[in-house]
Amino acid sequence: MKQYKINIHAHSIFSDGLNTPYIMALEAKRLGFTSLVITDHFYGFQLGKNNHFSMTVEKMKMLKRACIEAKKILPVIVGLEIPHFGQEVLVFGGEAIKNILKKGLPTHEGLIALKRETNCAIVLCHPSEDFDILELIEICDGYEQYNSGCDLFRNNRNRGGFRDKVSWCNSDAHHADSLEVGYNVVDSKITTESDLIKYIKSGKQPLHFLKGDKMISVEPNEFEKKVSKMSSDEMKEASDEAVQKLKNTFQPDDLIWINGEQVPAGPYLNKDNTLRGV
Ligand SMILES: [Zn+2]
Repeated sequence: MKQYKINIHAHSIFSDGLNTPYIMALEAKRLGFTSLVITDHFYGFQLGKNNHFSMTVEKMKMLKRACIEAKKILPVIVGLEIPHFGQEVLVFGGEAIKNILKKGLPTHEGLIALKRETNCAIVLCHPSEDFDILELIEICDGYEQYNSGCDLFRNNRNRGGFRDKVSWCNSDAHHADSLEVGYNVVDSKITTESDLIKYIKSGKQPLHFLKGDKMISVEPNEFEKKVSKMSSDEMKEASDEAVQKLKNTFQPDDLIWINGEQVPAGPYLNKDNTLRGV
């Protein structure tokens, strides 16, 4: 069986990474990767306004231009990392990404619609310890079993309990040097966006490695074991319940968790005080 090395989560200078796509492509090639995947951040219009690391339509054009040079070294695939209900997800699919950058962060229903309409792929990043949002599991085609950018092991427990979801081990590299800290080995050559989307949705589990070729395997936690034993009806019921819970309205001063920080809900609320997709 042929084996190909890939890391699907990395950042460049177009958000909070330290290197250009060209330098990252040079290093990815040296390390034996099949392609380079860049997933810069987009924080939405409200939060993004005060965050110079956030992607914009203009910056995406610049990133694509920079990728022309990088592609002379190695195939480059561009995704986007966005907050969604207190977690973060990677979005793959040019049409969906264009839509998000233009219209802002989607609500959960918006993301479901986008997925249906554009066939994009969604991968849940670094699920945190208190992660139990079933409808996020439902919408994601895959999830990060391991993210070597997370210092705390509790944010890196095996998510293998989520049957039929492809799990990933990514480096979340913010500089070229860390591209190889966590990576995957797959049996097909992924060099284009559609190759990647197809693989993410394939249900085929990649092999996960840490730098130095150490293979990772960790036991699923209690929540994951519980989810994996649910019938699809039970799963749907629990998911509907969770979605309903998320439709509850918030007050602007209510504190909500975003990326590990408690912040006032104000900037994340829709006009009817429901939570935006954060
Ligand atoms: Zn990231």
